[in-house]
Amino acid sequence: METKVAIIKDMNKDIEDLKEAARIIYDGGVVAFPTETVYGLGANALNEDAVSKIFEAKGRPQDNPLIVHVASKNIDDLVVEVPEIAQKLIDKFWPGPLTIILNKKEIIPNKTSANLASVGIRMPSNNIALKLIELSGCPIAAPSANISGRPSPTDVERCIEDLNGKIDFILGGNKSDVGVESTIVDCTVMPPVVLRPGGITLEMLREVYSDITIDKAIQGKPREDLKPKAPGMKYRHYAPKAKLRIIKGNKEKTIEKINEIVQNYIENEKKVAILSTEELSNKFPQGKVITLGSEKNLNEVARNLFESLRKCDDLKVDFILCQAFEEDGVGLAIMNRLNKAAGFDILEV
Ligand code: AMP
Ligand code: MG
Repeated sequence: METKVAIIKDMNKDIEDLKEAARIIYDGGVVAFPTETVYGLGANALNEDAVSKIFEAKGRPQDNPLIVHVASKNIDDLVVEVPEIAQKLIDKFWPGPLTIILNKKEIIPNKTSANLASVGIRMPSNNIALKLIELSGCPIAAPSANISGRPSPTDVERCIEDLNGKIDFILGGNKSDVGVESTIVDCTVMPPVVLRPGGITLEMLREVYSDITIDKAIQGKPREDLKPKAPGMKYRHYAPKAKLRIIKGNKEKTIEKINEIVQNYIENEKKVAILSTEELSNKFPQGKVITLGSEKNLNEVARNLFESLRKCDDLKVDFILCQAFEEDGVGLAIMNRLNKAAGFDILEV
């Protein structure tokens, strides 16, 4: 299949490209597009055949439901009801990186919700995404625009790398601002539960409703007896080709341990990359240092995380080492993605 690529630089001048992409979605095709979290791979959420093409292009497990993207805060056509707290969260955080899980109406096909009675819905804030949804005239089901298991793409080049030849159209735009996927809150239960941490932090959510909790199954290492409530959270994910290990401890010990391990790898003729904060980046004399951003700005670290993992793949390193981050604010989402990318290989020092 030939994939058309169009970069949207100016929404007015490039409107014909957007219209063409919207027409493809309406007609049952598949289009990659920018959002503020990561790039998405979209199809008409109400068309089962179209949605099947997303699963096929990504190699996504069939039991992993898709998030439905909308261009309006009014979602009455899609869900049975919007409870009071869900409405407050929508009013406060939409458009933005927050997905709300609610009981679905029949109009949402089982393919989209992976046979669940509920559906995840989000209104993105990216202008290109919003315009695409508006022009296509239908809600757009969209997971991240990567091959399943790989780190999510935060720019158009990475979409092309994974999906060229597999889908109809790739719309390019600015780099994703948040860099990690949306926060998911299950509002079918009381109190609501965070199923996946993201750019809207637990602290921000609790300002709206202080009793919001977090799914125990996504805290700490995976356990046989505790299944995550978001089906997708059980899969190994975000993984670079190289083996990633997280080093957790105070700064001095972390630096010392990383240098010791790097030395060892180099003696064994292995290539190794170190994902580091700006502050520590000059502490590692050997190995390829990739800077994630300042420890004082974890939003920047989140924004650069997936791209950095992909850079490690470009460099064809054998091993990657990364320091751990504090798990508050957006640090919770960063550590969730890092832990999964590392297959929970965490060395405490
Ligand atoms: P992605 O689109 O790749 O960011 O993945 C979407 C995530 O949302 C996956 O972890 C899904 O399991 C989760 N998800 C989507 N819909 C639901 C739902 N109705 N209930 C629980 N989790 C959901
Ligand atoms: Mg994904």
